[in-house]
Amino acid sequence: MPPRPSLLQPCVVGALCALLASSAAAQDRAISLPGYSAANAAEERAMEADAIAGPKAERARAHSRILSAETHVAGSPAQERSSDYVIQQMRDMGLETEVRAYRAYLPYPTSVALWRVAPTQKALTLEEPPVSDDPASAAAQYPTVNGYSGTGDVTGDIVYVNYGLIEDYARLDSLGIAVKGHIAVARYGRSFRGIKAREAERHGASALLIYSDPQGDGYVRGDVYPEGPMRNRDGVQRGSVFNGAGDPATPGYASTATAPRLPIERMELPHIPVVPISYGNAAELLDGLRGREVPDAWQGGLPFRYHIGPGPIRARVRVTDDRASRGTKVIYDTFGIVRGSEYPDEIVIIGAHRDAWGPGAADNVSGTTSVLEAARSISDLVRSGHRPKRTLVFATWDAEEWGLIGSTEYAEDDSLRLARGGVAYLNQDVAAEGVRFSAGGSPSLRPLLRQIAQQVPDPKGAGSVYAEWHRLAQLPDTTVPAMSDPGGGSDFAAFYNHLGIPIADWGFGGASGVYHSQYDDFAWMSRFGDPTFEYHATAARIGAAMLLRLANADVLPYDYVEFARTMQRYVPALDRSLAALDRTISTQVLRSAIERMEREATSFAAARDAALAAPISRARRVATNAALRDVERALTRPVGLRGRAWYRNLVYVADQDNGYATMVFPSVNEPIRARDAHLAASELTDLAQRFDAATRAVSAARDALTR
Ligand SMILES: [Zn+2]
Repeated sequence: MPPRPSLLQPCVVGALCALLASSAAAQDRAISLPGYSAANAAEERAMEADAIAGPKAERARAHSRILSAETHVAGSPAQERSSDYVIQQMRDMGLETEVRAYRAYLPYPTSVALWRVAPTQKALTLEEPPVSDDPASAAAQYPTVNGYSGTGDVTGDIVYVNYGLIEDYARLDSLGIAVKGHIAVARYGRSFRGIKAREAERHGASALLIYSDPQGDGYVRGDVYPEGPMRNRDGVQRGSVFNGAGDPATPGYASTATAPRLPIERMELPHIPVVPISYGNAAELLDGLRGREVPDAWQGGLPFRYHIGPGPIRARVRVTDDRASRGTKVIYDTFGIVRGSEYPDEIVIIGAHRDAWGPGAADNVSGTTSVLEAARSISDLVRSGHRPKRTLVFATWDAEEWGLIGSTEYAEDDSLRLARGGVAYLNQDVAAEGVRFSAGGSPSLRPLLRQIAQQVPDPKGAGSVYAEWHRLAQLPDTTVPAMSDPGGGSDFAAFYNHLGIPIADWGFGGASGVYHSQYDDFAWMSRFGDPTFEYHATAARIGAAMLLRLANADVLPYDYVEFARTMQRYVPALDRSLAALDRTISTQVLRSAIERMEREATSFAAARDAALAAPISRARRVATNAALRDVERALTRPVGLRGRAWYRNLVYVADQDNGYATMVFPSVNEPIRARDAHLAASELTDLAQRFDAATRAVSAARDALTR
């Protein structure tokens, strides 16, 4: 997964940080379990208490040790073994199981080499060396080449491009420094590495080396591995440089065995070699670089003054891969299924990617373990006679690391069923690598997630996960902790950004410098990330309770009041950027549509609570819940965003100039960025109409419930 730096901070989005909690809290007191009748609420509470007690730290430790014993990159025999392990576990729990295989384009490097060739010659060692008392660090490694790197053998002057952001190249332009024909060196951070590769290639670099600056996650931040959790001088961050979602050979449809495939030259992938390096190696190329001194903000944490170059240091990079002979490989998604007793076609899914760039104890054995322990807990309940009312699916995805491939191919494969019956998708990507809780997702599920976090004990024993979350965020009592927006970067994208299914995710973070390194392994996890494995178990407890709450509700517990209020908070910023483009365009049409949604959602919530006081027929429940599932689908446009049709959700998307940052209302904000006032205005009208369609779905839910 891409790291979510925003999740490590209590608050990152200014005005959005302080969600006023008073109204939500009052609501929580009045109706103990929104969407439940009194009789069902009591039964649900008892079941959730059992489900929360189910996950066990010792079992989580055992899963972690086994699943992180070897490097398990998508498409490899080791990764096929991890699929077998998960399926066997789920069979042992008594779950129905399914494996879906897809054939995806995953070219493996066959060699990588890097030399400094001037002013002095030196071959640089790219492998991460073993450290003592860490057996996995001595196991076979995946080569230090970024996923979907181009191939080639190039020699050129080194030029330092800071983070390799669009604005960094603009700065270089303004300084009169050309990158063309040179080997660019960029530091990790501030943007997705695929954007760094795209921008380097656009500016004519012949190759890109991306290094982990010690200021990012190395010694500037803390002691380095194995003395501490941070990145040591040899640690390397691998990772994909593909900017899309799903197999690049089958854009928009599933990579089944017989699916037609794009030829390699038509896939949207980098053409230049892109190689991740350690800061030890970066120092060999940056110390002694001359030319201009860097602007102050470009100075990193290495112990010398940085310069931009180009030269006099020159390097040679060579990458070869297997694309010509066996670039396409088989990937495996696994599913454990509990059929719902009352609404078998309504589906709640929890998923985690199972692939990694190395042993992957944090990313993402911890997520896989959380899914396994949630499955264990629920299956124990099922065996004692408590079958959930909706169908639960426990998924593990392959090839997330290459571009969310397993989850995307599955969602494309099963899109009709998911669009109709998908209730929620819960994602577990790095479930535990520290003690600091963070969460995010669709605003419609945030109140539910906060409520579950109040029920689950924090591993430190001082109170609930919520209480500890709130304490660490250092907020006043009336303010709830900020939750992150679903922009992109993990397996929820196909469900949320493509299909409009509400999503939630959560996990426990902390100081870590082993992201996508061979050192993300069991020894690191046991020493620093989660020595007791209690945080693994706690992530699973939250998952089990979330699943049950969504599966058993009489009326689906989405909160479209909080959803609409969250949307309202985005309008002032949209107002400002529109005004800067064209003063005649008013956001009033959108503002009014969102206000109508809030009014209708408030009215629906009251009608729901009143209706639940008496028995509701199954037909009415089914119709109400079908209408509720339509609400966020209505904000998902079938033709998608202009220029990237796969992204249909009009509320959130990953910023295409950054890859990690979230852009809200992208159908309007993308034309604003392109300075197309005419298109921005028509898209604003379209967006308002779609909010009205969402509001009509809320009305339909109320009508179905009360008629
Ligand atoms: Zn991940």
